[in-house]
Amino acid sequence: MDYPRIIKKPWDQHLVRPNLEDYRTARAEFSWDRLSRELDWFDDEHINIAHVAIDAHLNTDRRDKKALIWEGKKGVIEEYTFADLARLSNRFANVLVNRLGVQKGDRVFFFLERIPEIFVGILGTLKAGGIIGPLFSAFGPDAVKDRLADSRAKVLVTSPALKKKVIEVFPELPHLQNIILVHRPGETSDTGDISYEAEMAGASESFEIVKTHKEDYAIMHYTSGTTGKPKGAVHAHAAVQGHYATAKYVLDLQADDIYWCTADPGWVTGTSYGMFGPWSNGVTQVVYEGGFSARRWYSFLEEKKVTVWYTAPTAIRMLMKSGDELPRQYSFDALRYMCSVGEPLNPEAVIWGNKIFDKPFHDNWWQTETGSIMIANYPVQDVKPGSMGRPFPGIEAGIIDDDFKELPPGSEGNLALKPGWPSMFRTYWEKEELYRSRFKNGWYISGDKAKKDEEGYFWFVGRVDDVINTAGHLVGPFEVESVLIEHPAVAEAGVIGKPDPIAMEVIKAFVSLKEGYEYSEELRHDIQKFARGRLSSAASPRELEFLPSLPKTRSGKIMRRLLKARELGLPLGDTSTLEED
Ligand code: ATP
Ligand code: MG
Repeated sequence: MDYPRIIKKPWDQHLVRPNLEDYRTARAEFSWDRLSRELDWFDDEHINIAHVAIDAHLNTDRRDKKALIWEGKKGVIEEYTFADLARLSNRFANVLVNRLGVQKGDRVFFFLERIPEIFVGILGTLKAGGIIGPLFSAFGPDAVKDRLADSRAKVLVTSPALKKKVIEVFPELPHLQNIILVHRPGETSDTGDISYEAEMAGASESFEIVKTHKEDYAIMHYTSGTTGKPKGAVHAHAAVQGHYATAKYVLDLQADDIYWCTADPGWVTGTSYGMFGPWSNGVTQVVYEGGFSARRWYSFLEEKKVTVWYTAPTAIRMLMKSGDELPRQYSFDALRYMCSVGEPLNPEAVIWGNKIFDKPFHDNWWQTETGSIMIANYPVQDVKPGSMGRPFPGIEAGIIDDDFKELPPGSEGNLALKPGWPSMFRTYWEKEELYRSRFKNGWYISGDKAKKDEEGYFWFVGRVDDVINTAGHLVGPFEVESVLIEHPAVAEAGVIGKPDPIAMEVIKAFVSLKEGYEYSEELRHDIQKFARGRLSSAASPRELEFLPSLPKTRSGKIMRRLLKARELGLPLGDTSTLEED
């Protein structure tokens, strides 16, 4: 299915001059070395992410600029300047080092809601030379235990309420030496744990940031667990070069922006682009503590005068599900640029965004492992709905076959990257062999299938594990799902291959419906007919099942492996990241 391309104006007609004015020139002239000279290194070899993100602004006119405008679930607003965050994170670093004896390389994990203390704590840990590990606050006891045990975390920062949820697993964590409790107003704790507030009040505001080497480990994120057991991807302090560069040229962050990243810090997007990318660019960001609500999100965009918005396909599909009338009640005059990441962004969602906001969502592709955006759409470049865009300048991406040979445009194959960019993961925590297995013949193999067109735009096909072989045809679930959600009744779709004695696999689709639609046999036939009219007969779903909603990870990705396991009555595997309704 072809969708009309969304033509962009040349940059001189933009109201705000984009940071990347011409893709080809940017690619030809790009140099990581030159770009990283824009950052405040201690010397050629030493850099610290928290220093670059926060303290580097203290000797500039951004010192008293707002870095964080936070709004709590109940409407409380707190504001922090760069200088505030510098002082607070210094205090936290002192608590870690002087009170708890944290040393370089120790893991400090965060099991907290999206509250200001998680930002302060993460920055303070990096200043102290520790390795941060953020966890989704919605995780259950086993998910928390697995990650704390695997990483052998020494310190856990949590809250009284969340601690209660996981208290039963602590005896199984011999390496966990200290628990710091953050209390929100009205919260008390009756245990002997360390109180964040009391310790912070007693700690000094000055701290000498540890002069970490660019290769010292800094960040550990467990992958989303969409395809299997989550792995601990580890990033070094050098990664901030990637956060900075991509926030500048892909998110197009500029001095006066009000930026909103909807990702939770438990997911890599919530740190790379919910902390380090915007702050290393000296940009103000707004954070909303609460979860998804179409009404609240629209009003937040309006009230905060958000200019740049970075969100995810699942959220966009939920906004679409709530209808076109609701957004018409709000004004998005300030909004100039929107991006999306995490899953394939269905062309229908790009077209819808363009209709509602008068500008498209700019899809971009990356992984926990890559640390920063690898393939993207840019402000000055036409958007082809359904395409992830083109490789970031400084990144070499290719489509390769199973023998690691690069394929010509138009062929489907393995999406691979030439290793060596600064935010590339440095290992899977204590799984060095698995890490090495991802690099072959001079490529990093992403595990995704894609193709490239004549203009160098990349198109996502599916994860290698999810591609369906039906009667000799290889079908990517994304293509089928995108067609299904074009049907007016369908809100979301997940597609799997179901074993079949004749065709090897047949296509089974699971869909949930938009508000106002009811399940019926007639609707089932109608959706199947609709799909058949738009897809080849091999790609048309043989079976269609209605579900109230699809199983997703905490970062909003459809878990096709779970749909498949349930369908076939097989063990569900790791469900630690499954989002429960
Ligand atoms: P796990 O590796 O544990 O199975 P995961 O791969 O979902 O989980 P992440 O690192 O959070 O964990 O996600 C990266 C993956 O998300 C990519 O490999 C890709 O499959 C998908 N993805 C991210 N952005 C896009 C995009 N713009 N288009 C298509 N797919 C995307
Ligand atoms: Mg992955």
